[in-house]
Amino acid sequence: MAEDHSMDTPEYIPRKYARKDSYEALGNAIKLSLDYEQDAVRRNTNAFNTGRYQATGKIPDYESLKDRARAIKEDAIRRLPELLDTLRSSVEQNGGTVYLARDAEDATRHISELCTGYNAELVVKAKSMTSEEIHLNSVLESAGMEVVETDLGEMIIQLADEQPSHIVGPAIHRNREQISTLFKEHFETNQSLDSGEELTKFARDLLRKKFIRADIGISGANAIAADSGTLLLVESEGNIRMVSQAPPVHIAIAGIEKIVPSKADLFPLLELLGPSGTGQPLTSYTNLITPPLNLRPFSFNHNPPDTRSFHLVLLENGRMDMRDDPMLREALYCIRCAACLNSCANFQTLGGHAYGGETYSGGIGAAWEAGTHGLETAKFGELCTGCSRCVPQCPVRIDIPWLNTVLRDRMNRSGDSEKFSFVYRGLLQSAPEDTTAPFQKQFFGNFATLARWGSRLAPLSNRLAATSPVKALLEKTVGLARDAELPQFATRTFAQEYKASRHDFNGSTPEVQKDAEVVLFPDIYVNYLHPSWGMAALGILNRLGIQTVVSDSFADGRAALSQGMVTTASDRAHELADGLKRYLDEERDIIVIEPSVLSMFRSDYGHLLNDEHLLTLFRERTFDPFEYLLNAANLTGRIQEMTADPGTISWPPRIFYHSHCQQRTSDAAEPTVKLLKSLGFEVKTSSVECCGMAGSFGYKREYYEVARQVGKDLAVQLEDAESEFGECLVAASGTSCTDQLKALTGRTVMHPLEILDSLLYTK
Ligand code: SF4
Repeated sequence: MAEDHSMDTPEYIPRKYARKDSYEALGNAIKLSLDYEQDAVRRNTNAFNTGRYQATGKIPDYESLKDRARAIKEDAIRRLPELLDTLRSSVEQNGGTVYLARDAEDATRHISELCTGYNAELVVKAKSMTSEEIHLNSVLESAGMEVVETDLGEMIIQLADEQPSHIVGPAIHRNREQISTLFKEHFETNQSLDSGEELTKFARDLLRKKFIRADIGISGANAIAADSGTLLLVESEGNIRMVSQAPPVHIAIAGIEKIVPSKADLFPLLELLGPSGTGQPLTSYTNLITPPLNLRPFSFNHNPPDTRSFHLVLLENGRMDMRDDPMLREALYCIRCAACLNSCANFQTLGGHAYGGETYSGGIGAAWEAGTHGLETAKFGELCTGCSRCVPQCPVRIDIPWLNTVLRDRMNRSGDSEKFSFVYRGLLQSAPEDTTAPFQKQFFGNFATLARWGSRLAPLSNRLAATSPVKALLEKTVGLARDAELPQFATRTFAQEYKASRHDFNGSTPEVQKDAEVVLFPDIYVNYLHPSWGMAALGILNRLGIQTVVSDSFADGRAALSQGMVTTASDRAHELADGLKRYLDEERDIIVIEPSVLSMFRSDYGHLLNDEHLLTLFRERTFDPFEYLLNAANLTGRIQEMTADPGTISWPPRIFYHSHCQQRTSDAAEPTVKLLKSLGFEVKTSSVECCGMAGSFGYKREYYEVARQVGKDLAVQLEDAESEFGECLVAASGTSCTDQLKALTGRTVMHPLEILDSLLYTK
């Protein structure tokens, strides 16, 4: 564990309501998080992840449950105005009141008036992100009330005067020692407070005294049923139960998106919340309450009345505009489980103080900040690399990377870089709509153009790019990190290599070109950076007797998409679809080596091409090479027959294999592992969600260190694998993963295609 500085350095400043409205502010937050919070965030998110994978793996109908939850949320948001009326009637019939607050100011004024109306002196609060959104505590405190956070995590950050760093675990950035020091600073005690149990007991004793004296309890709500006014409140500590039942007055504050039509609709959400959030089948305490409760308050303060009061405050604060916005509407479906935060490699390294805005953090946080505070505070969304590991984790199927791409596109369009539009359009080939994006984005977003020229001018371009003056110039002009090891452009592209050796392959004759069983698509990464991967694929297919045709190479749009240049990405997608039209129309199987390109075809093109038939062909006819060999062509047996025993060659019989993040999300990683094992290798796979390099992300000056820190776990896992098994061959399937592994470990990294090609002999 890294040395803990967080309590003894003046640099560790509270980041309450830290705005990320400039890249400089984001850079400062990144630095502080890397220096002081990384270890605790990484440990805690990894624990959540382990629990989530186990718990969701045990839900028998997980995928259909997610569909049901999504349908409930879509229906609720569509019917929101009607449900607001229904909920108001239900709550009023139950004896409570409903207030629909326009914005943060309206909500805090109303709650403050309610509290002063009850002569409240002490308010106990349960965890509520909505109350964070409106900065409720500071308003109540300035009205003279004592406000006590009763969730342990919230209590910690209230003492530390910080904002939550995670929507479920607000204090996950702090370790036990830091919490112990914090408690001792704030409370007089001779207890050691060294263990979690001691800290919890100390907090419990303290909070009990507050609960029984409190005048008012304020909670949030995970969901609210319009037909009955029933609130769903899930928790781990039992404090919500106390907040909502001990004081005579209960105020619940919730965003209007929390309303669902009926009580029955609460249950699918409940079934998903625990497993997705904390990895529990059901959270420790599940409260389904329809207030005001028919219980005598047990507060000892101010002669509590016999009956209790309930006030529901529903917050609009930009949500109706979000509902009208086809993209931000997606965020309203969010049930705030935090699975997307925990499964994000960048969040695991940075936590929500860097990867978050005024209130909301993580991948989904940018959309929430854009909707509730404005686009300018959502710049931290740039930390979403589009790796897509969060997508299968989201219980309501929100495509979070796409949301962040759209936000980036909107930020680009509010930029002012148009003055160089002739360069962007003419030389770099951006679409006219994208020429307002910053120069750095235009540069990285048009990688195919750079690669074409880099390869034409290689090896000179490679040599020049490695010199210090050119590195310094590139850092200054396009923000390329000068310490990054740049990819080497191939002196001969794959297309040139293939042309030169075409006579060696079955695909050379015109007949085969016409009848070939399979098409090998050379993506730009294979074509300009890794021709050997393409040649290996071709060699394998040839020796297996599969007639193969090689298509032309086209840019796929991934590079532009990662910069939020959606129109440019869409132009590239259309150009590529036209180029492959012949093969797609003939419904030929197409092999794609680079996983990020395969993922474009299978997933992202759904946002870029408006042709259902074409999209179906892209989804169903494109394959990862090993997926094709094993699943589509069913060649495992033949490959085994034709492969040399790895024991007979000089390589170690073990492989450490890192599959690409998007390859995993596309379910295309498993065949590679299966095939390598079937060849007789022992295979140890990495478990990191993403290597951190993520295309161009890790080459950028501002994110270079983040990417290296994210990749740290990968390097550690390789070390662990070798100390357990002995020396391993190192293999990876993606371009950026290969670069990252090489940069972090200094090892040779092979593509699995190169391994198979070396072992396969002609029979
Ligand atoms: S976007 Fe999905 S995964 Fe992320 S917090 Fe919301 S519901 Fe959970």
